[in-house]
Amino acid sequence: MSLTPLTKSFIENPCKMFIDGTWTDAESGETIEIVNPANGKVLTTTPVAGKDDVDRAVQVGRNLFENNSLTPAKRGELLWRLADLLERDKQTLMELECLDNGKPLNKAEYDVNGAINHFRYYAGWATKIEGSQIPVSTPDRLVYTRREALGVVGLIVPWNFPLMMAAWKLAPALACGNSCILKPAEQTPLTALYLGKLSVEAGFPNGLLSIVTGTGYPTGEALTNHMDIDKIGFTGSTGVGKRIMESAAKSNLKKVSLELGGKSPNIIFDDADLDKVLASVQWSSFYNTGQECTLGSRIYIQDGIYQKVLDTLKSQAEKLTVGNGMDNPDLGPMISERQLNTVMGYIESGKSEAELITGGNRYGGELADGYFLEPTIFDHQNDSIKIVQEEIFGPVVAVSSFKTEDEVLARANNSIFGLASAVWTQDISRAHRFAQGLQAGTVWINGYDMFDPAVPFGGYKQSGFGREMGKSAIDLYTQEKAVWVAL
Ligand code: NAP
Ligand code: MG
Repeated sequence: MSLTPLTKSFIENPCKMFIDGTWTDAESGETIEIVNPANGKVLTTTPVAGKDDVDRAVQVGRNLFENNSLTPAKRGELLWRLADLLERDKQTLMELECLDNGKPLNKAEYDVNGAINHFRYYAGWATKIEGSQIPVSTPDRLVYTRREALGVVGLIVPWNFPLMMAAWKLAPALACGNSCILKPAEQTPLTALYLGKLSVEAGFPNGLLSIVTGTGYPTGEALTNHMDIDKIGFTGSTGVGKRIMESAAKSNLKKVSLELGGKSPNIIFDDADLDKVLASVQWSSFYNTGQECTLGSRIYIQDGIYQKVLDTLKSQAEKLTVGNGMDNPDLGPMISERQLNTVMGYIESGKSEAELITGGNRYGGELADGYFLEPTIFDHQNDSIKIVQEEIFGPVVAVSSFKTEDEVLARANNSIFGLASAVWTQDISRAHRFAQGLQAGTVWINGYDMFDPAVPFGGYKQSGFGREMGKSAIDLYTQEKAVWVAL
């Protein structure tokens, strides 16, 4: 395994976290081990930030916010420069993401490119955040609005797309003029810390972006309970999202936006372009080893093509290569032994309530030290079972047949989640009927997992609220002030 010298130097020493522009240990001295999920070996350690450390990050962020001297143009310039540096060090970032998260190196490249595009997109926004002038019905009044930054924001992200999730939050929050404190997931802090290193080189003022590493408690909770943090931007599980709202309510009523779990329906009609369906369905089922919130983990296939699609998906799943991300397999390991065990629990439950078509086993042999799981397919006709209702977050799909449009729309919407959805059909009217009827923040027609920084993304129902990306994210990281002038 040949790594860039930068990657090596980054993982050969214990990592420190990044507060006020300096690299620091936790006050408590506590650390956690960062593990490579492909072989279970420790890569490095990171500090576990506690309340004192978070206080320090908040204080410098607050001071900076109050004396803010960064013009919008300067903010745009810094974000653009950061994107250039990510591009320059792309190979190192890919390697760090691959070692830390397990994902294949060539798939990590999509993530780094996604982060670069995000920083560039919001670099453009920094100079275009405007209020408006409002005509009112009282004579002699001038009314206008200002879009103002919130202050200090806490950004908490998960382990499945560590760098990209950090970019989705940091880019708009910084473009709007906030001070940011980023908390990466405890399993995957490396690319976030590398981003901290690049922010120094880009010329960000000390403390504008701090990165606190550690666990949900104490680190995450020190952010969510803090009395001087103005907002939490969160991506993660629905359960933790609920706790964050509670903490916000019990502390200073900080604003909250939540991107949470999903259980997205992927609906395939008899009249769909079958070649396109079959080229897509294995990826919309198993991409990132199933650890992606938008994946089509509930597949509904119309009667006429049911067997053909199921048989093809089965043979595709059995051919997917699985292995160490450094070797560019189709699928890497799961993030951790714990996540693998959680998913195995769902597989056991599935075996008792549905028909196992393929998969279901942990890999042994030379993959036994890593957290590798076979792509797994269940066939069922009962939407109330656990593997259809709950988010599994592993390489497991539940496939079912349907007869009519009304039936499948009702079944697709029978979920507590509403993150994404897809419909495959050549009937343009039907496609738009589904675009209207599906209760989800995103509907893809004749495709899957299409994204762009300019397009709002977020959940219906218990998949959360607030929309990231596009102009919507500017609203998330600013507040509106009305100014009345008696002329
Ligand atoms: P998670 O357990 O909810 O953790 C997400 C983040 O929250 C991590 O940084 C975690 O820290 C932190 N955290 C945990 N407990 C906390 C607490 N009490 N207070 C404050 N922060 C806390 O989720 P995950 O297992 O990392 O990620 C998988 C989940 O994320 C899935 O449900 C998936 O659907 C969802 N997800 C959603 C989207 C989306 O855009 N909608 C995107 C990706 C993932 P630790 O790492 O230390 O636990
Ligand atoms: Mg790791």
